[in-house]
Amino acid sequence: MLSMAHERAARNTTISTSLSMGLLIMSSSSPDREDGPTHLTYRFSSSVNQVPGTQNVRSICAQAFQRWAQVTSFTFEEVPATTAADITIGFHRGNHGDGSAFDGPRGTFAHANPPRGGNFHYDADERWSSNPGPNEVDLESVAVHEIGHLNLLGLNHNPDLPAAIMYPYFDYGITKRDLHRDDIDGIRALYGL
Ligand SMILES: [Zn+2]
Ligand SMILES: [Zn+2]
Repeated sequence: MLSMAHERAARNTTISTSLSMGLLIMSSSSPDREDGPTHLTYRFSSSVNQVPGTQNVRSICAQAFQRWAQVTSFTFEEVPATTAADITIGFHRGNHGDGSAFDGPRGTFAHANPPRGGNFHYDADERWSSNPGPNEVDLESVAVHEIGHLNLLGLNHNPDLPAAIMYPYFDYGITKRDLHRDDIDGIRALYGL
């Protein structure tokens, strides 16, 4: 989950919920880490289509997956939308059936559904971009963060390091796409790499 930085104080309740969900991922998925697959498939399936600014989302997400693949033994492959996949990415609005309603513009930008879940949802009501202006949110920065939560990766937030990808807050008009040393150390520690 990724939320606006300057709404932090007002959103403490939401953040603590997502932090405890993060802990849930770590405990419930760790047995699978021993013998789980390192090749993961993903597909795109949205309940809101043709969200402005998102026409390049497939190549942007492929790039975001590559950033994690480069520092782990995971590989990622897009499969057709109609195929079963480990991970499903999509754009959704408001209450979209997974118990985590989106809040319209601002507030929450995206979330990933734990535990061991493979769903990564963008809030369709944000202004998305691959090259964000002051009132737009960067698609790839958000993808790199949410992928860190997904499936066998299952990283928790790091609330203490704003430069880390797994820091729980983000904002309009900025990009943060490169994994920080702390993110790389976190995923490598989980897998003994
Ligand atoms: Zn998050
Ligand atoms: Zn959702």
